[in-house]
Formats: sequence, structure tokens, C-alpha cells
Amino acid sequence: MERIVNLTIDDVGIKGKSGQTIMQAADDNGIYIPRLCAHKELTPYGSCRVCTVIINGRPQSACTQPIAEGMIVENDSERVREIRRDIIDMLFVEGNHYCMFCEKSGNCELQAIAYRLGITAPKYPFMFNKREVDASHPDLMIDHNRCILCARCVRASKDIDGKNIFQFTGRGTHRKLEVNSEANLKDTDAAIVDRAFSICPVGCLIRKRKGFAVPIGQRIYDNKPIGSDIERQHQ
Ligand code: SF4
Ligand code: SF4
Repeated sequence: MERIVNLTIDDVGIKGKSGQTIMQAADDNGIYIPRLCAHKELTPYGSCRVCTVIINGRPQSACTQPIAEGMIVENDSERVREIRRDIIDMLFVEGNHYCMFCEKSGNCELQAIAYRLGITAPKYPFMFNKREVDASHPDLMIDHNRCILCARCVRASKDIDGKNIFQFTGRGTHRKLEVNSEANLKDTDAAIVDRAFSICPVGCLIRKRKGFAVPIGQRIYDNKPIGSDIERQHQ
């Protein structure tokens, strides 16, 4: 049976439901916890660590950690923001992100979280890894330069589209998103309507001939910070 669970996030007492994660309870109470791999339509994955919070002095992922009675969560403190800035900085330098030329700019969650955290330039040196572009499909393309390996597309293709088009190969810095075919995207049954292609938080999975349909200046995060939809619910 579902129980009410009392916890505290940043000194604010909130109520959650038993079985919820910290992120779910925070969302329901209008408290934004940044996230990249997590998405409401997908099962929690806990890979990007952008949702790191501190509980009893220990960093935990808010998207996978269940709430507990009396739990005290630190979410928006300077030391937590610093952990998140480090993670976002690493994501920028591991890939090749040139926001001013990117179709996703203004709609990109990575860029929007960086702005929200006050990042103007990564503090680590760029790695300039060589990444490929797969433009083989007539309607879709993959620009691996911008992939942050969040697995949203992997889960959406499997659990929502019922196709299982994507997988990861390799480990560590060699980890890579691949399509489940011998060759390229055109050899899969990927389609323009697939949720997998609209759920990517960055500009890696792209629909061809849709570029700049919404002008710069009118995009989701051009005029309001990421997370304000969650925060607005309770203002
Ligand atoms: S995917 Fe996002 S962070 Fe990367 S270049 Fe495009 S707008 Fe910038
Ligand atoms: S293509 Fe997009 S959704 Fe898929 S793993 Fe890369 S960043 Fe995540």
C-alpha cells in the first residue's frame, strides 16, 4: 500500500509517495533537479550523474535513489552545483560541441544546464576525439560528435518504439553508440516518427529537412531556464 513519506530537500519539508525516487518526489513538489539521462517516459538509468545530490554526506543519483522517511537531501548547494559543473564540463570536452553552429542550440538540455549552472567555457582541455556522422538514412542522421551516451534513445527505441535500434559498444572513453545492424542507420528500421529520435537531449539524433524550423530566439530555453516548467507548477 502506498504511504506518505516525509523528507527534506534544501531545508524545505516535502511529502512524497513510497516507491518514488528523490527526483520524482522533487518534481511533484516543484523542485528542479538537473538531469540528462533521466526522462519521465523512460525507466531510470543513473548514468549521467548530473542529478547527483548529497544524502548524509554521500553523493547519490536522485533519479535512482528511493525516498525514505526523514531523509535530508542537499540539492541546490554550492558543493552540489560544483559536482554538476564538473560532470557537465567533462561532457563538453569529451565530445565536439560547437553550439553556435548546432541545430539543437536553444533546445539543447546539455547547453541549457550549462547555462543554468553558470558555465561559460569548460575548465578542462578539449579532447577533440574523432567522431563520425552517419547520414545514410533518407530522413534521419546521427552526429556522434554530440552524443553524451545518455541511453535515452536506447531505452526509447526498445521500450517505446519496440524496435531496439541502438546499443552501446566499448568501455570507458571507447564507449560508443552503435546501431543494431552490420552497417549504417539506413540498414535499420528507424523511422522519422520514432520516439528515440525526438527524445535525445542534445543535437546527436537529427531529423533531416527540419533544421531551424523554430528560429533562434524562440526556442525552449532561449527565454526561460531549464527546469522552470517544474518550478512553475508550484509558484
Ligand atoms: S548538442 Fe547542445 S551542447 Fe552540443 S553543440 Fe549542440 S547545442 Fe551545443
Ligand atoms: S544519441 Fe542522444 S539520446 Fe542517444 S545516447 Fe547519444 S545523446 Fe543520448
